[in-house]
Amino acid sequence: MAEQLAGDRVIDGVHYHQNDIVIIGAGGAGMRAAIEAAQGADTAVITKLYPTRSHTGAAQGGMAAALANVEEDGWEWHTYDTVKGGDYLVDQDSAEILAKEAIEAVLDLENMGLPFNRTEEGKIDQRRFGGHTRDHGKAPVRRACYAADRTGHMILQTLYQNCVKHGVKFYNEYYALDMTMTEVDGAMRPSSIVALDLKTGDLHVFRAKAFIFATGGFGKIYKTTSNAHTLTGDGMGIVWRKGLPLEDMEFYQFHPTGLAGLGILLTEGARGEGAILRNASGERFMERYAPTIKDLAPRDIVARSMVQEVLDGRGGGPNKDYVYLDCTHLGAEVLETKLPDITEFARTYLGVDPVVEPVPVYPTAHYAMGGIPTNNEAEVLADNETVVPGLYAAGECACVSVHGSNRLGTNSLLDINVFGKRSGRNAVEYVKAADFVDLPDDPAKFVRELVDRLRTSTGTESVAGLRRELQETMDINAQVFRTSETLTEAARVIHSLRERYPQISVHDKGKRFNTELLEAIELGFLLDLAEVLVYCAMKREESRGGHMRDDFPERDDKNWMHHTMAYLTGEPTSPDPSDHIRLDKKDVRFTRYEPTERKY
Ligand SMILES: Cc1cc2nc3c(=O)[nH]c(=O)nc-3n(C[C@H](O)[C@H](O)[C@H](O)COP(=O)(O)OP(=O)(O)OC[C@H]3O[C@@H](n4cnc5c(N)ncnc54)[C@H](O)[C@@H]3O)c2cc1C
Repeated sequence: MAEQLAGDRVIDGVHYHQNDIVIIGAGGAGMRAAIEAAQGADTAVITKLYPTRSHTGAAQGGMAAALANVEEDGWEWHTYDTVKGGDYLVDQDSAEILAKEAIEAVLDLENMGLPFNRTEEGKIDQRRFGGHTRDHGKAPVRRACYAADRTGHMILQTLYQNCVKHGVKFYNEYYALDMTMTEVDGAMRPSSIVALDLKTGDLHVFRAKAFIFATGGFGKIYKTTSNAHTLTGDGMGIVWRKGLPLEDMEFYQFHPTGLAGLGILLTEGARGEGAILRNASGERFMERYAPTIKDLAPRDIVARSMVQEVLDGRGGGPNKDYVYLDCTHLGAEVLETKLPDITEFARTYLGVDPVVEPVPVYPTAHYAMGGIPTNNEAEVLADNETVVPGLYAAGECACVSVHGSNRLGTNSLLDINVFGKRSGRNAVEYVKAADFVDLPDDPAKFVRELVDRLRTSTGTESVAGLRRELQETMDINAQVFRTSETLTEAARVIHSLRERYPQISVHDKGKRFNTELLEAIELGFLLDLAEVLVYCAMKREESRGGHMRDDFPERDDKNWMHHTMAYLTGEPTSPDPSDHIRLDKKDVRFTRYEPTERKY
């Protein structure tokens, strides 16, 4: 644009702001980044939710770090577990960073004031979690630091308080909907984020030298999910629409213990404290699937075993469609003190009291292993190697890749702290030397047109209707078990929903607090991401970690030991996504662990 702006200004109804660093998202990753960034540069955070309402606050069970406070442990064992847990698709140098820096990450939080549960001697207490073992798989180890079953809540509150202390500027209830990019010396660089202020409906252009995406996951592509209503993958969608790649999107995690029929999460910390999964006849079936660590096997294995029990007719309830989480032997005191929230969830939502009866559970869509590809410095990649200058990503929206094809429980709260911190620190270094990039002539054009189109549409489709159809097809066709047939059906439905999407109309034509309009835009992101997931899953003809193909049940290291990089190349013209999505491969980085058969 002709006039490049320095301070906050309003031109033609659009508000312009300028900061050194703009962070999109105020969950754990965004706020951990902000604490670093604000100490070295002028930093603003844009967030569609009030920071303390971000999904990180719903995390229950814990954050992994080999502190060895209650028994022998070490970062090398943690690295091994992370690599094996991810079914060897983890970049091993990244996993080493995660496990080594875990210790500092926990101590940082402790120093910021986080009230962890303590041992009798006053050290941070640690509990068991799935896939975390001593000495390369010999037995479960106590590695998860926790604050009852409200660990994420405590992390989020602690980080927020420290952001306030460091003077981070928050733009609460601002929805980032687009990123402008400008070519500089032959490379595309981000120049601004365009956001809509929920309260007024006004558009805001945030210019900065560096941007950090920390927008979380996209579990709302599924109907049965542990994820909050707001987890619609906006950040990933914005980056995707710019032609930048998304990595490993076929790997989506199903958490074993969702409340049956609802998907609300019961933390794996329950099994960490000793709870047991049983089928309808009371059998502890995990003994058959993972004889060494049983109920504490990684989530992909436990979720598959549960579904298998149901498929084989051993499920409970009138429709035999769930199994049970038995906590009765833990006793009321453990449940009320170490697992109070989930005890209450079971009572409130299912009318079942875990103190005296087993709780009906079934896998629930939980976590995106894939996302915006970054290197170990949290810099976003434009292809397998090239960094996009000034663009960073961290947390669930990013793919480093420390989780490979299946994330271990408690490694996400860790990921957001380790790589959130790295992104903030590196962005500060970057902006010291970098200039602002020129803005395009009318940076808000794309969002203005999108919003106007939705607001004035007279079509007959509804947001809720299309979203329900999307979620239902994903639950049926892209779940724990998949086949070429089910995935092709999902792709067909998604294509038809995309064709109907322009016919959406919103009842609320106003500007202020128009959540219906924003849900329509979020649905657009959900459709994009569901399609990429399904297409990558169709193409990966093997089973690994969270991706289980019934028609290709074995892991195939010869042909598939690589990451998937997906690129948007044009407009869809048919139900076959190959006309507008290109898939590429990216090597997995190995340091010391050769892939072996994955037994637990
Ligand atoms: C119920 C539940 C329990 C969990 N328990 C654990 C656990 O015990 N241990 C563990 O390690 N992991 C756990 N996880 C996973 C972990 O909590 C998440 O992966 C992690 O907290 C994600 O953090 P984040 O900062 O990346 O994203 P989030 O915390 O989801 O934050 C995303 C932020 O992005 C903002 N945002 C999104 N879109 C936009 C937009 N368009 N414009 C502006 N802002 C936007 C939101 O406002 C929000 O502030 C759990 C997850 C769930 C759902």
